[in-house]
Amino acid sequence: MIDFERGRIRFIRGGKYPQSNSVLIDDDIRTIIDPACDEEKLLKIHGERPIEVIINSHGHEDHFLYNSRFPDAQLWVHELDANAFRDINAFFNQFFHPEEVDEKTEAEWSTFFADVVKYQPREPDRLLEDEEILDFGETRVHVLHTPGHSPGHLSFHFAEEKVLFLADLDLVKFGPYYGDKASSIDDTIRSLHRLAKIEVDVYLVSHGKDGILDGDPEHIHRYLDVIYKREEKLLDLLASGPKSLEEVTAEGIIYGGRSLSEGAWELSMSERTMMHKHLQRLDHKRTVKEENGFYHLV
Ligand SMILES: [Zn+2]
Ligand SMILES: [Zn+2]
Repeated sequence: MIDFERGRIRFIRGGKYPQSNSVLIDDDIRTIIDPACDEEKLLKIHGERPIEVIINSHGHEDHFLYNSRFPDAQLWVHELDANAFRDINAFFNQFFHPEEVDEKTEAEWSTFFADVVKYQPREPDRLLEDEEILDFGETRVHVLHTPGHSPGHLSFHFAEEKVLFLADLDLVKFGPYYGDKASSIDDTIRSLHRLAKIEVDVYLVSHGKDGILDGDPEHIHRYLDVIYKREEKLLDLLASGPKSLEEVTAEGIIYGGRSLSEGAWELSMSERTMMHKHLQRLDHKRTVKEENGFYHLV
């Protein structure tokens, strides 16, 4: 059941979306970061000795998937993602404006949240801050605020064990995800540079086949490069003439232009948001300019 352990750290792999990998701190204060790997496994662990604290790396459903199964545990999160736990509308608002969502998507999300997530609004018991050191008994973890994927995204550095949990800065081949309204490309870049400077033996991440990588910063640099490669492709496209955001989205630079969905989520929406963020970033750098709904190179 445990896929990796060091000291009191236990790493348990999850399946595909909507699951993600969990980090159990099997210490005096039994704590789980992202209870989203597997309901049965998590309940078994909880049955052996109760989990007292849930930490969520951020406010995405595939990380708080089974939070509701631990109503007596404390909930610790970063303030900038806290509203996603307090209120389901705030959760949805981080992705899109309510008027952007069609009825079918809304119905699918509602069913998923009622039946699978069993979402219960919850006031966090503690708001975690950057550079805070949490002590669980033998284990100490350094909290790192690493925004970009979401504003309140956290990573966790176990200095003594030389382990870094990067959560959804997940180092997968696909590259970083910044497709929410609240995501930021520049913050993602800054956070990744910061994480690359931390010397550890092992990187743990939330997704991907394995979720366990050697602590080689090259993994982070390769992941960062995906951002710049996407941007180069976008610039190449604009070199052929001005394009609207819809035309850029249809090109499928990130998802290949196929109609894909993940659960109730249309990936064309992510493609559109991510490309829009790239265009805005290039606009700030005065490389691209928008006129009458069309983007062109300066
Ligand atoms: Zn996420
Ligand atoms: Zn995730």
